[in-house]
Amino acid sequence: MTVETTSIDTLVVGGGQAGIAMSEHLSKAGVPHLVLERARIAERWRTGRWDSLVANGPAWHDRFPNLEFGEFDPNGFASKDQVAEYFVAYAKKFNAPIRTGVEVKKVVRNSGRPGFTVETSDGTVEANRVVVATGPFQRPVIPPIAPRDTQLTQIHSADYRNPQQLPEGAVLVVGAGSSGVQIADELQRAGRHVYLSVGPHDRPPRAYRGRDFCWWLGVLGEWDAEVMRPGKEHVTIAVSGARGGHTVDFRRLAHQGVTLVGLTKSFDDGIATFQLDLADNIRRGDENYLSLLDAADAYAQRNGLDLPQEPHARDIPSDPPCVTQPILELDLAQANVTSIIWATGYAVDFGWLQVDAFDEKGKPKHQRGVSKEPGVYFLGLPWLSRRGSAFIWGVWHDAKHIADHIVTQRKYLAYYDAQTNEPGDAPALKVSEAI
Ligand SMILES: Cc1cc2nc3c(=O)[nH]c(=O)nc-3n(C[C@H](O)[C@H](O)[C@H](O)COP(=O)(O)OP(=O)(O)OC[C@H]3O[C@@H](n4cnc5c(N)ncnc54)[C@H](O)[C@@H]3O)c2cc1C
Repeated sequence: MTVETTSIDTLVVGGGQAGIAMSEHLSKAGVPHLVLERARIAERWRTGRWDSLVANGPAWHDRFPNLEFGEFDPNGFASKDQVAEYFVAYAKKFNAPIRTGVEVKKVVRNSGRPGFTVETSDGTVEANRVVVATGPFQRPVIPPIAPRDTQLTQIHSADYRNPQQLPEGAVLVVGAGSSGVQIADELQRAGRHVYLSVGPHDRPPRAYRGRDFCWWLGVLGEWDAEVMRPGKEHVTIAVSGARGGHTVDFRRLAHQGVTLVGLTKSFDDGIATFQLDLADNIRRGDENYLSLLDAADAYAQRNGLDLPQEPHARDIPSDPPCVTQPILELDLAQANVTSIIWATGYAVDFGWLQVDAFDEKGKPKHQRGVSKEPGVYFLGLPWLSRRGSAFIWGVWHDAKHIADHIVTQRKYLAYYDAQTNEPGDAPALKVSEAI
């Protein structure tokens, strides 16, 4: 799959699921393109996740439309390595022009001529268009409140691999989205005492009335929501496919032995302080959980679906003591906390993309991935066009839209060429047909 070229119509940066989806649509449309990946195909699924991670959605759902997960149980949850292998197989299926081990270092718009000059770790590429598919979660973010205590082991969830990696002792996991909650569960099951700092969250049921939540969110149109509901900007989603998949329930985690605390506020002289918002966060998580059951029931009734009833899904366990009498201060040494895992999310990093495609806050400015800098496209970002945009199934549809846009732009240029060039002249814009 190595492609030697120094000039190409469309350059795709990043060979994860977004880059592969983009390549498939560009291939189908006959657009000459090249994907540059600095490491290996789907590298983040291979080395940017913890060892035991499985996909959050079942295999029938968390995939592209044109390939199933082989012999895999469609209702099962693929391991991170199986997801990576899936994308390798997918790229092979249509012979995607991916060049691995090449990092894009700098992209600048050409002056006085069309296109972009792209500096890479392996030379310069001239491209008419650049699709940025470098991922929604590029730079692990640890908030500035992190203590400067050298006695503590502190890592981001991106660097967590397994419980053995941490020194003996209790662990504080900050953040209870899908990563934090799964890591806390794994550590507690490995015999660690775990403090889990829980902020505002959504927690859909893993399954209800015989259907996975991915199915419910699909038929209820939730994956297609175009904008985040106001006030939900800092709300994480807590779901898990671990151990065959189960509903994330913070009270159950507490009854299992995890000590829940509210949002982490500060660290001072070895004392961690937490907000008095734990009960509230859990109550709102319940509301979100129950609202999905209500919406599912209404959908089943409206459509006359004969799905098994599941009244026990509405049973909410009793509040554990850590919720009724929340810890607001924790002396880390006294509690024998030796590690902190920051499951506090990621930011993007576009320092290498020196084009006019950003707003005043440095955020990509685009409409469904088509940026304000003509010829630059973003793909795979959260909420690029809808809620599903950063997920496996969503990025494929966004890539199709971008490919359509590229095809249309190429038609305009072909028309310009036809109008301006006498027969036999070189085209005004050289479109490389290297592939
Ligand atoms: C812990 C975790 C679990 C997740 N689980 C699921 C799940 O179960 N289901 C689901 O649908 N989604 C899941 N996601 C969300 C999403 O599917 C993944 O984040 C996915 O990896 C995003 O794919 P991507 O191709 O957009 O970006 P990435 O996978 O991040 O790929 C981007 C690629 O670009 C390369 N790159 C970056 N910069 C450069 C450069 N300058 N030059 C060349 N190459 C570059 C990187 O090496 C990387 O391979 C999960 C995310 C996380 C963090």
